[in-house]
Amino acid sequence: MPDCETIDFIVPAYNEAEGIGKTCERLLAVFDKLGLHGSIIFIDDGSDDDTWQILKTQAEKDLRIKLLRFSRNFGHQVAIVAGLTRSKADYNLILDSDLQDPPELVDRMMSLAKQGYDVVYGVRESRQGETAMKKMTAKLFYRLLNIFSPYSIPLDAGDFRLVSAKARSLFLQADETARLNREIWSWVGLKQIGFAYHRPSRVFGKSKYNWKRMLKLAFDGFAASGAAPVLAVAVAAGGLFLLSGLFLIFSAPVYSMVTFSSALVLAAIAIAGFYIARLYTQSRRRPDYLISEIIGTNNGNNQV
Ligand code: UDP
Ligand code: MG
Repeated sequence: MPDCETIDFIVPAYNEAEGIGKTCERLLAVFDKLGLHGSIIFIDDGSDDDTWQILKTQAEKDLRIKLLRFSRNFGHQVAIVAGLTRSKADYNLILDSDLQDPPELVDRMMSLAKQGYDVVYGVRESRQGETAMKKMTAKLFYRLLNIFSPYSIPLDAGDFRLVSAKARSLFLQADETARLNREIWSWVGLKQIGFAYHRPSRVFGKSKYNWKRMLKLAFDGFAASGAAPVLAVAVAAGGLFLLSGLFLIFSAPVYSMVTFSSALVLAAIAIAGFYIARLYTQSRRRPDYLISEIIGTNNGNNQV
């Protein structure tokens, strides 16, 4: 990387006290080894363990570590937005704080960026340490999202990506409360490329994505992809209507059909309600997150 170019790592962390110290060491080692210029911006997403205290100690030892603290848990997706909003670097590497996104890969990602790509996203070729159920639902999620989305969303790509300052500034123009960042990166356009990597198990601690959080993320993604889910339900309802006509012709029992179609009607109402709820949240115009503390130096142009 030429001397003048800068990169900020964006690292959201929620209750990662068990290993966040190790993460700092490994990220700093990557900076040193590759001679990177810039900062490591941690966003503490309202942790209630010692994550913040550990990060503070690390930031006192090394000025390249900069910190944002949310006043409570606002979520992984907006934590990334908060970090990006405060970065002025030429590039950003977005990665998880549990070392499941190997920071050493930044080297390979930078060389792809140098070939003219504004977004270099990691594609999970394999996922270690995750249950078969999680892997299966994730696979299904990415494929369904792609079908519903008006633009193509890369399969099996999470938040791990290297983005240029240009991509960052376009991305930040999306002002959405319920968001799935990977869907927004696709909306941004520009030149993008994926590169396959093996996603290791968590080096420490447990996943913070329980079923509730994963479902919310999935819903946010589908909602963001426009009215397609509603259309899908409408098409299914049409098909069902035809089928019930056939049942009538062949005088077959329609009880099960009645139950099924009522379920479908309920699903359609639920989907409509789900959009209305999001409109309501958005119309309140509350900020998506609140920052209660900032720690960073005031020199250079990479300050938090
Ligand atoms: N995370 C966060 N806020 C949350 C949940 C998770 O900032 O509400 C962070 C977490 O600390 C980690 C990253 O987001 O750095 C990914 O979370 P996790 O590893 O739990 O997800 P998984 O890899 O299991 O999908
Ligand atoms: Mg993880």
